[in-house]
Amino acid sequence: MAGHVFGRSAAQMPTAVAGAGCYIIDADGKRYLDGSGGAAVSCLGHDHPAVRAALHAQIDKIAFAHTGFFTSEPAEVLCDALIAAAPKGIEKVYLLSGGSESVEAALKLARQFFLETGEPRRHRVIARRQSYHGNTLGALAAGGNAWRREKYAPLLVETYHIDPCYAYRHQAVGESDAAYGRRAADALRTEIERLGPETVMAFIAEPVVGATAGAVPPAPGYFERIREICDEYGVLLILDEVMCGMGRTGTLFACEQDGISPDIVTIAKGLGAGYAPIGAMLASGRIYDAIAQGSGSFQHGHTYHGHPLAAAAAGAVVETLRAPGTMAQVRAKGATLQSRLEAALGQHSHVGDIRGRGLFRGIELVEDRDTKRPLDPARKVSARIKAAAMARGLICYPGSGTIDGKHGDHILLAPPFIIEDKQIDALVHMLAEAIDDAMAATQA
Ligand code: PMP
Repeated sequence: MAGHVFGRSAAQMPTAVAGAGCYIIDADGKRYLDGSGGAAVSCLGHDHPAVRAALHAQIDKIAFAHTGFFTSEPAEVLCDALIAAAPKGIEKVYLLSGGSESVEAALKLARQFFLETGEPRRHRVIARRQSYHGNTLGALAAGGNAWRREKYAPLLVETYHIDPCYAYRHQAVGESDAAYGRRAADALRTEIERLGPETVMAFIAEPVVGATAGAVPPAPGYFERIREICDEYGVLLILDEVMCGMGRTGTLFACEQDGISPDIVTIAKGLGAGYAPIGAMLASGRIYDAIAQGSGSFQHGHTYHGHPLAAAAAGAVVETLRAPGTMAQVRAKGATLQSRLEAALGQHSHVGDIRGRGLFRGIELVEDRDTKRPLDPARKVSARIKAAAMARGLICYPGSGTIDGKHGDHILLAPPFIIEDKQIDALVHMLAEAIDDAMAATQA
């Protein structure tokens, strides 16, 4: 390849030429088991018949009609299907082209809501330290990963970050899960009080933290308490389910397992399952009505929002995810993956924690299991594991900056929902070998 693609060491990367089930095949014919769905994207594998058929059918009708002039059948069908399965109170869908766009739209919608409801001082966003909400400036400002933010700091609006709910690192010895969940959530109350409730617009959080910390689930009761605090202070709750939504954790929306409804929820990745770039922001009827009865419309838009071809792909994805048995299958395979990981790596001297929900699993790597001391970032262990895994024919998603955006390594696993047990075994086997390869290459 000529090497004009502007990307991370694209010149040294293999060229993907085909997809078959859970595998990507490169130009040399080498097969890679997609243990992370890229970055938790390819939830249905790489050649799903229903999604391919939907794309073919739609391209033969029409690929694009600008939403300033038309709606389209696939967009209508997709939005109806999403709302039929959405958390209580969520009534409208705004389609976008990816995760960052969806987060940007959510932040702007929250702001417009308060303008229309007579609270113009509300503009502040509270987020969490271990979080990633996207790479565009608004979403990057919301995210808490220090390394990703550093270079662009002068361009980012001020956002306020509290500690995440991160039991492995923050739960006190002897503290019950429920007590920890309450304590972690109460950090939001403290921050709202500190900033002045009349200035706080929204709290944004990933129900299960993805890229920044490696599939960290909340403690029981955490989000219920967060919901109560948001309601008490009139702050909107935005859940970013870009990575953990669309069945990844075993329910279509991750927050179903926490028993709460957000005011706004963002989804992407699994929505298009890699077949089309698409995201969505879903909002409550209360927000929609306030704007509809106020200025009339959300002051936002992108050229490709509601793209019919992308919507057709996502419509087939959502139909597949909602089919009876699909979510139960994700939960069962997720339990299998967790137990195989524990069997293979549970006693590994550099594996501190194995966690997650459904087919969304994270492995936190440490220097010392007893003290939980992180690995020296200079050793770049997770990046080395990624490379060693690729060499063995496994795709897994590395993450560093687990702890404060600067320290800590983890590996994220998010295989396609069609993964079979023997492929789970192969995944775990190759990953264990890759971890040992990487550690051997960089002794402390
Ligand atoms: N939010 C979360 C939780 C994410 O994981 C990501 C992507 N990793 C984004 C937002 C941004 O999505 P995109 O890369 O599609 O812009």
